[in-house]
Amino acid sequence: MNSSPIGTPLNVIIVGAGLVGLATALALRRAGHHVEIYEKSSFSREVGAAVTCGPNATKILEGLGCDFGRMRGVEHTQTRYFTKDQGDGDLSFVSRGSDLFQKFGARFYLVHRVDLHTELKDLTTSPTGLGEPCILHLGSAVLSLDCESGTIGLGDGSFVSADVVIVADGINSSLRKFMTPHTPPYPSGLAAFRTTIPFSLVNAENESGLEWVRESKRALCLINDDGGRRNLTVYPCRGGEVLNVAGLHPIAFSGTGEDGEEKVASFGGKVSSPGQFLEGFKDFSARYKELIRLSPAENVTLWPLLLFEELPTWISGRTCLVGDAAHAMFPMLGQGAAQGFEDAITLATLLPSTLSEHSTSSLSDANKDQSDAINARLRLFESLRKSRATEIQTLSNRIGRGLPVLQFGELFPII
Ligand SMILES: Cc1cc2nc3c(=O)[nH]c(=O)nc-3n(C[C@H](O)[C@H](O)[C@H](O)COP(=O)(O)OP(=O)(O)OC[C@H]3O[C@@H](n4cnc5c(N)ncnc54)[C@H](O)[C@@H]3O)c2cc1C
Repeated sequence: MNSSPIGTPLNVIIVGAGLVGLATALALRRAGHHVEIYEKSSFSREVGAAVTCGPNATKILEGLGCDFGRMRGVEHTQTRYFTKDQGDGDLSFVSRGSDLFQKFGARFYLVHRVDLHTELKDLTTSPTGLGEPCILHLGSAVLSLDCESGTIGLGDGSFVSADVVIVADGINSSLRKFMTPHTPPYPSGLAAFRTTIPFSLVNAENESGLEWVRESKRALCLINDDGGRRNLTVYPCRGGEVLNVAGLHPIAFSGTGEDGEEKVASFGGKVSSPGQFLEGFKDFSARYKELIRLSPAENVTLWPLLLFEELPTWISGRTCLVGDAAHAMFPMLGQGAAQGFEDAITLATLLPSTLSEHSTSSLSDANKDQSDAINARLRLFESLRKSRATEIQTLSNRIGRGLPVLQFGELFPII
């Protein structure tokens, strides 16, 4: 039998059912609230690329009931560093991450984004589990937001109000402008190709130069050019059956020109091709190009990497920004979603179901008390989360500003 925390549930609206919107919904459900999620897409085209979940992310996700076994996550225990000119027989620099569990009390997983999204969606809406199942409205674009009353306007002309509205509509948020001065993200001149390659294709090429991939079955491999501004990141997911490959580069290298700077409205990327991916890395050693050539033609996307500055505030009245809508960052340190998961768990901790209990007798006084209490908690949320997320955003964005990239290990003191 389910046991919900005792108290008066808040009615919560969440805009956006990406990784962070769903994690926030799940955390608030488990804190005893009534949660409805409005998502503009119908999830008919889910993006096939993987994400790294560092110990800070896995600790939160496991605490919310996510099961990395069910998601077929691969535990990351080793990073291998290569340079673009290395050929067969050249040794890589290897750093081991197997002591992460001892250090942080949580493991580091490599997981397919669709598997993580499905896990979060299932737990959020499941009739079993702690709290009341969240209601997910697909195909429901939110067009407007009134921060003081907590009211959203939908595409069909209707309006819905709640005690709290959490905006998780991604880097190009269309609702952020109702909360804080409009400061859109802007092009950095860098972009990333992303694809996933079945490991069976790598094994089938057993006469080729792909031995470096086969012997790195469980490792995260980083292949850098001289300045580190072009980089291939290769790691397994789905129990080692699928290889995630990402290729960061200045747009001049892939011939994507201004087109490569197109705004990405949500997590989606734009359609690209193995040929375009190869073009961006044509001076890399043959063995790396052999891997790129295995990219499935229908599954290569190109992501313009946008720079997003710290916002003056994340909150207004009864509303609050979380995830990429609040603090989108470059993927260099694998902390974009992870920082959103930290938002989710912090909010759920600060919004207990006892918050809306009050002693005032009149309804208008009670509404005012509740509104003030919610706003005070959201301010507390911002004071706890904003400086940390901004610091990690600044470190992640270094390459976009022409500064040397931090390596994974350099981030460990703060994750
Ligand atoms: C190349 C690349 C690699 C990355 N690798 C990693 C990694 O290894 N580790 C990591 O932690 N992070 C990584 N990230 C970052 C991570 O993917 C993002 O930080 C994370 O997905 C953001 O989640 P979100 O829910 O905030 O936003 P999104 O995933 O963008 O979700 C926003 C949702 O809101 C919906 N929406 C938008 N507008 C509206 C509206 N008006 N009404 C209703 N719904 C709306 C969208 O349809 C979408 O579903 C990477 C990012 C990139 C580009």
